[in-house]
Amino acid sequence: MPDVFNWQLNRSMAYEYAESRPNRQVSAVFDINKCIGCQTCTMACKTTWTSGKGQEYMFWNSVETKPYGSYPLGWDVRILDKAGAASWDTATRPATFRGQTIFEKAPAGERAEGWLPEDVHWAYPNRGEDETNAPIDSGLHHLSIPHAIWNFYLARICMHCTYPACLAACPRKAIYKRKEDGIVLIDQERCRGYRECVRACPYKRAMYNHVTRVSEKCIFCYPAVEQGRWPRCMRNCIGKIRIVGYVHKPNEADPENPIDFLVHTKKIALPLYPQLGLEPNIYYIPPVQADARFLRQMFGPGADAAVATYKRLHDNPASEPLLRAVLLLCVSTDRILGRFALDGQEAVGYDMQDVEAVRVPLVEPTYVRDFSDPAIGVYRHNIT
Ligand code: SF4
Ligand code: SF4
Repeated sequence: MPDVFNWQLNRSMAYEYAESRPNRQVSAVFDINKCIGCQTCTMACKTTWTSGKGQEYMFWNSVETKPYGSYPLGWDVRILDKAGAASWDTATRPATFRGQTIFEKAPAGERAEGWLPEDVHWAYPNRGEDETNAPIDSGLHHLSIPHAIWNFYLARICMHCTYPACLAACPRKAIYKRKEDGIVLIDQERCRGYRECVRACPYKRAMYNHVTRVSEKCIFCYPAVEQGRWPRCMRNCIGKIRIVGYVHKPNEADPENPIDFLVHTKKIALPLYPQLGLEPNIYYIPPVQADARFLRQMFGPGADAAVATYKRLHDNPASEPLLRAVLLLCVSTDRILGRFALDGQEAVGYDMQDVEAVRVPLVEPTYVRDFSDPAIGVYRHNIT
C-alpha cells in the first residue's frame, strides 16, 4: 500500500491509494457544549434525503447520548476493541500517533479493520437513551452540583474523510471523493451492494438499502454546497452548534478562515477518533463536563487543552475576543463562510466571494417594554 501523510497523526501511514487531496476540503465544526439533543438536524436530513423505501432505519445525521448511546448499536466500542488503546507520543509537537490505524491493522485479504453491523444494530436509534434506570425517590435529585455524573450529545454525519475507509474498501471503485470540494459520494450505478463500505467505515456512515440493494451515505447536501449554502442538518441546528467552511492542512492554515482558526490556530476543535487514521473532516469542540480520559480517547491528546481554552472563554470572554466572535457566527447564516473578523462589538462573516454574509453583536441588546400600552389598550409581558 502507498504511504500517505496524515497530519492528524503527525506521521505517514499506509493507505489503499496514493495521496490525492481535493482542491479544497469542505468541513464543519460542532460545538458539543451547545447541543441539546433535539434531533432537529436528524429530521431535517431524514425528510430531505432518506424518506424512501428501504430507508426506514437510515439516519445519515444521527445524535446519540454519550457515553452509552450509539447508532448503529456499539459502533464505536466494537471498532475501539479491535483497534486497541491509542498510543500517542506527546513529547513531539504536535503529538505523534504510535499505534496502528485501521488500514495498518487490516486482516489478510481486507483493506481495513472493520465489522459489519446486522439489521438489529440499526433498528433502535436512541432507544433507552436519556432514561433513568431506576425510580428517583422523593427528595433525591438527578444531579448534584458540581456534577457527579455527566453525559453529552454527539451529533454525527459522514466525516468526508481525507482517507475514506469506505472508498478504500470498495471492490467496484464505486466510491469517489470530489476534487472540487472533497465530498465523498457513492456512485449508485456502479455499486453492487457488497457492503464492504459498511464494514470498513469505522464511523458507520455508509448504509445499505435492502430495497434498492445498493449502499447510500450522507452527501453533505452537495447541491446546496455548489450554491455556497450549508447542508440541511447544519442550517436547521436549533442549538446553533455548527459552522460550515473549508479546512486546510496546518501548513496552509489561514487564521481568518473560521474553520482553520478553530482547528489550527486555537486547536479547540478536534477530530473524532483520529487514531483510526481517516483524517476525518468534521471537528468537535469537546464537552467541558465530561471525563478527561474519555475525551482523550475520543478526540486525541489535544482534548485537555481544548477544554481549558473553552473554560477560559467562559470565565473571561474578553480574554478570547476572536474565539468569542467566531463561535457567535455558528448558524447565524446559511452561506459557507470563508473569512471572519471582529469589527468593534460585532462579529462579521464573509462568504466564499468575500462578500459580507452576516453581522452578529457580541452582546445582544435588551429591550424592556412598558407593561401597559395605552395606545392600543393592551398589557404586555417581558418574557425573554
Ligand atoms: S465517515 Fe465513513 S462513509 Fe464517510 S467518508 Fe469516512 S469512511 Fe466513508
Ligand atoms: S439540531 Fe443542533 S442542537 Fe439539535 S440535536 Fe442537532 S446538533 Fe444538537
